[in-house]
Amino acid sequence: MKEKEPMQLDVNSIRQDFPILDQSIHRERPLIYLDNAASSQRPLAVLQSMVDCYEKTYANVHRGIHWLSEQSTEQYEHARQVVGQMIGARHQAEVIFTSGTTAGINLVAHAWGNGHLREGDKILLTILEHHSNIVPWQQLAERTGAIVEFVGLNEQGRVDLETYQDLLDERTRMVAISAVSNVLGNVVPVAEMVGLARSVGAQVLIDAAQHVPHEPTNIIEWDADFVVFSGHKMLGPTGVGVLWGREELLEAMPPFLGGGSMISQVTVEGFTPGELPAKFEAGTPPIVEAIGLGVAAEYLQQIGLAEISRYERELTALAHRELSTIDGLKLLGPAEPDQSGIVSFVVDGLSNQDISIFLDRQGVAVRAGHHCAMPLHEYLGIPNSCRASFYLYNTEQEVRRFVDAVRQVIEKLR
Ligand code: PMP
Repeated sequence: MKEKEPMQLDVNSIRQDFPILDQSIHRERPLIYLDNAASSQRPLAVLQSMVDCYEKTYANVHRGIHWLSEQSTEQYEHARQVVGQMIGARHQAEVIFTSGTTAGINLVAHAWGNGHLREGDKILLTILEHHSNIVPWQQLAERTGAIVEFVGLNEQGRVDLETYQDLLDERTRMVAISAVSNVLGNVVPVAEMVGLARSVGAQVLIDAAQHVPHEPTNIIEWDADFVVFSGHKMLGPTGVGVLWGREELLEAMPPFLGGGSMISQVTVEGFTPGELPAKFEAGTPPIVEAIGLGVAAEYLQQIGLAEISRYERELTALAHRELSTIDGLKLLGPAEPDQSGIVSFVVDGLSNQDISIFLDRQGVAVRAGHHCAMPLHEYLGIPNSCRASFYLYNTEQEVRRFVDAVRQVIEKLR
C-alpha cells in the first residue's frame, strides 16, 4: 500500500467543525489557539450531542423507570463503551466516569492508597509530574507515613531509567507516572517502566491526560493498574474524565465518595457498596458531559489517533526546528522525535509573562507559567516557561505565524 504523504490530515475540513477557531481578535488578528495542553476546543458534533440530549432525552440515569431516563442511561452507558474501547478496556465495569484526571488520582490515592500504604512505604513519581499527580500522593504520605520519591531526567532530558531502577525496591508500593509530560512533551516509556515496577510488586498508575487525546492508547499493552484522563483535553466537555482500573483491584477497594448510586443497600446500621462501576460513581454523574465525551472519542477515532499523532509530531518538529534558529531562545525537553504536540521554551532576559501577553496581542494563545509542574521547573532551574501546544486543527501556517510572532516579540522587548 502507498505510504501516506506527511501533513495529510484534512485540516481544512476539520477546522469547519470548530467555529471557535474561525475568528479574529485584537484588531483583526486571526486567532491561533496553541493552548491545547491546558484544554482543547470541541467540535460541533460534541456540542450538538449535548444540546440534543438536553432538548430531547435528558433525565437522571439508572434510577428512573421511564422513557427519558432509559434514553439517558443508554446514551451514558454507550459513552462508557466507546471510551473504554478507545483505550482497549476489556470490561465496561473497569471504566469509571470521574470529573477528570485530578479526581481519578485522588480517588485512587484514597480508596486504594489508604488501605495499602504504611509508614516507610514508598510512592515513586517522576519529576515530570503535574501537581495532580504529586499532591494527592503527598497527602497520602501525610496520612500514612509513606515516603514520596522522584526520578529525575537523564542527559537527554528523558526520564532516567537507571535512577528509576535504583529507586525501585520492595518498599515501593505505588509508581505514578505521566505517559506524556505536559511541559516537555516527552513520551515516557510506560510499558517498560510498568514491567520494572511489576518486578518489585508495585502498583502503577498512569496519568494519561496528555496521552489519550494525542496518541493511540492501549492499556493492555501498558499493563498498568490504573489509568486516568480528562475529557476537556480530548475534544470533550469539562467536568468529566475517566478512571480505568484493573477489575480485581477496584473490586477490593472500598468506595471513595459515599452517597446515592454507589450502594446496593442502605439500612440504619450501615450500607453495602454497589457493583462496579457504580460503586465509584456516587451521586448524579456528569451525564451530558459523559455523553459529549463519548462523541468526542468517536470523532477522534474516526480521524484516527495514529494519524493525529503523526500530524501533531510534524507540527511540533516544525516549531522545534524554527524556534531553535532564534538567538537566545532555549527549548526545553529532549529533541524530536519523541515530542508529542508540546513545545516549551524560555528566552534569555525576557519574562515569559511578557512574551505571552505580546503573543496574545498578535492573536496567538500560548501559556506562560509553571504549567502546574513547579518541581519540574525547579529541577530545570527556571521559575516558569512559555508553552505552545498543538492539536489536530492547528496548521503549518499557524505554527509559522507563531514562530514569527516569537521573533517579533524578542526584537521588540530586547
Ligand atoms: N496531568 C496532566 C499531565 C495534565 O496535563 C493535567 C492538566 N493540565 C492534569 C493532570 C490535570 O487534569 P485536570 O485538570 O483535567 O484534572
